[in-house]
Amino acid sequence: METNDTGGKLLDRLGRPIEDLRVSLTDRCNLRCTYCMPREMFGPDHAFLPRHELLSFEELARVLAAFVDLGVTKLRLTGGEPLLRKDLPDLIALLSPLEGLQDIALTTNGILLPRVADQLAEAGLDRVTISLDALDDETFRKTADTPLSVDAVLAGVDAALAAGLQPVKVNSVMQRGVNDHQIEDLAGWARDTGVTLRFIEFMDVGTTNGWIRERVVPAAEIHERINARWPVEPVGATADGSAEGASTDGAGRSEVAERYRYLDGGGEVGIVASVTRPFCRTCVRARLSAIGELYTCLFAAKGHDLRAVIRDGATDQQLRDAISAVWLARSDRASELRAEGGLTGERVEMSYIGG
Ligand code: SAM
Ligand code: SF4
Ligand code: SF4
Repeated sequence: METNDTGGKLLDRLGRPIEDLRVSLTDRCNLRCTYCMPREMFGPDHAFLPRHELLSFEELARVLAAFVDLGVTKLRLTGGEPLLRKDLPDLIALLSPLEGLQDIALTTNGILLPRVADQLAEAGLDRVTISLDALDDETFRKTADTPLSVDAVLAGVDAALAAGLQPVKVNSVMQRGVNDHQIEDLAGWARDTGVTLRFIEFMDVGTTNGWIRERVVPAAEIHERINARWPVEPVGATADGSAEGASTDGAGRSEVAERYRYLDGGGEVGIVASVTRPFCRTCVRARLSAIGELYTCLFAAKGHDLRAVIRDGATDQQLRDAISAVWLARSDRASELRAEGGLTGERVEMSYIGG
């Protein structure tokens, strides 16, 4: 295997190890969040991936074992909506014995969680992150483009807590003029419920979500509003006084949120400043699409076909070599380039690559 001189660690061209892998299990979803799968683009005529194209659980277990051998310690199963993949606990059961794997997490919209949370926990799932952008039905229905009510997601949060899939995190993507009036309500709810909230800046992932910079609510503003209501202090401060993701919450080094602690003991809140304070320098994250393409950046236009490698009968060593070759050549830093004014061109959709 080709390696660079790194004390055994596989490092990319900017010296970043591969530690965290996000795995999209499907490109389908039971919601149509306007910033992710706008219905005009993902309507009845949209060609979703046919089933036989998706990696089977056995193929996933094999390819993910190769990633773990190469240094990945943290897996996050996502999509699309990963709970649409039938028998998901069977996949978790295949993955949880992998030696070297420290953390298996799931990102979900939560709606199907009440049915399977216990089975997922029993199979070895460590944690869940549930996406919820508003607590009032009107805003929720508008952002998720669904007739369902917020209660459907809250039932998922309850199920995750009851199943012990802790710490339960909740992601809220903020868009100005759409749901930013919910910042304090969401923070207050999370404090009361005992979940860890992460506000996420609206990103220009893909090319169909109508992203404009004016819609981004900057992390600094979110911080200011929360701090005005419930004073916070950074968990691990940076030179500019903002908080820096530390590595002490079970999420490990790949935590990308700026973390803040409530001074009154109300727990923690995080903000992911992907747009206004990019963190490419420390990005240790790879992504695998549902059909087995390896992407080295959320904003990449193309992936590297690992499914062909395994379906062509490669040995485990050949599979590891294929992954290593891609990582060794990696030099992505798209969010930094955006900040420098240079992000243009084709990009893959988030529901495809895995959020
Ligand atoms: N369906 C699952 C869910 O919503 O949690 C998993 C997949 S979803 C693509 C993963 C995460 O990406 C969600 O928290 C979602 O809010 C976030 N996301 C999607 N599009 C985004 C965008 N344009 N900017 C920021 N976050 C986005
Ligand atoms: Fe579906 Fe998640 Fe995208 Fe919303 S954010 S449309 S729930 S994949
Ligand atoms: Fe990592 Fe790409 Fe995001 Fe930068 S833009 S943090 S390299 S995924």
